[in-house]
Amino acid sequence: MHAMVLKKLGAALEWTDLADRQPGPGEIRVKVAACGVCRTDLHVVDGELPDLQLPIIPGHEIVGRIDAIGVGVEGLRVGERVGVPWVGHTCGVCPYCRGGQENLCDRPLFTGYTRDGGFATATIADARYGFPLGEVGSDVALAPLLCAGLIGWRSLVIAGVGKKLGLYGFGAAAHILAQVATWQGRSVFAFTRPGDVAAQAFARRLGAIWVGGSDERPPEPLDAAIVFATVGDLVPVALRAVRKGGRVVCAGIHMSDIPAFPYRLLWEERQLVSVANLTRQDGMDFLRLAPEIGIVTQTTPYPLNQANQALADLRAGRFEGAAVLVC
Ligand SMILES: [Zn+2]
Ligand SMILES: [Zn+2]
Repeated sequence: MHAMVLKKLGAALEWTDLADRQPGPGEIRVKVAACGVCRTDLHVVDGELPDLQLPIIPGHEIVGRIDAIGVGVEGLRVGERVGVPWVGHTCGVCPYCRGGQENLCDRPLFTGYTRDGGFATATIADARYGFPLGEVGSDVALAPLLCAGLIGWRSLVIAGVGKKLGLYGFGAAAHILAQVATWQGRSVFAFTRPGDVAAQAFARRLGAIWVGGSDERPPEPLDAAIVFATVGDLVPVALRAVRKGGRVVCAGIHMSDIPAFPYRLLWEERQLVSVANLTRQDGMDFLRLAPEIGIVTQTTPYPLNQANQALADLRAGRFEGAAVLVC
């Protein structure tokens, strides 16, 4: 197999030939067809996440076909198309796993961070986290659903059922979530970098009823807001935009420091929460719904060996929607 491997923090990923691995008990081997590029991959290569062991193959929005199955795997077959998300393994026995919060597992493995991911022609995955994808939609179009879509979905569920929803940061996750929220009959208010008219036009095309810069106030108080941007300054801004009893959900794995803010922004039962990872139930719920909603992902494809360019373009905001490596 070939992979783009992070061997040194801050260095470019290196094209590397590796021996094919056999799946162990409970594992599958997936021949990767496409792998999305996520902001979290930037946090990995920049060393912003703790306890990173090198070398590592990044990538956690994997779409591919099973080409080998380990012992004890049930319900999957060779040739089946599956998606492998960010959460790559949970222990099944810790209090969180037993209590229905496996997204908070005490001993998890994360695809492309603490176990090898999908910037490769093949990967080994825990079969429990290989989600059947069916045959509707292209590999490239489906890849962003595996993280941007799933984390967005969990954030939306946690945001509650309020109709007026603010989205701060209009990248890969928000462009999918705007379609989901609109399909559910909600009104989407999209906040972009001030003056980013291209992102604002993009948000409008995807159903937002109001678009503006993150320095603007929405025309009416919001029921909930989801902060996808990794900018802590936006947290008090979002709190200011939600109504009494409204909720602000931070969806990122990493964020710059949140500045001090007056208590009155939180007063009146406003809530500030974060979303971490996903459960298998989230994956199944969302991936079942996605074809029904008819989500259209905007993708920019790159060949696998151009992974460094894709990361650089993501960092610079040079495309709308999501970058996807094609293997
Ligand atoms: Zn991600
Ligand atoms: Zn656990």
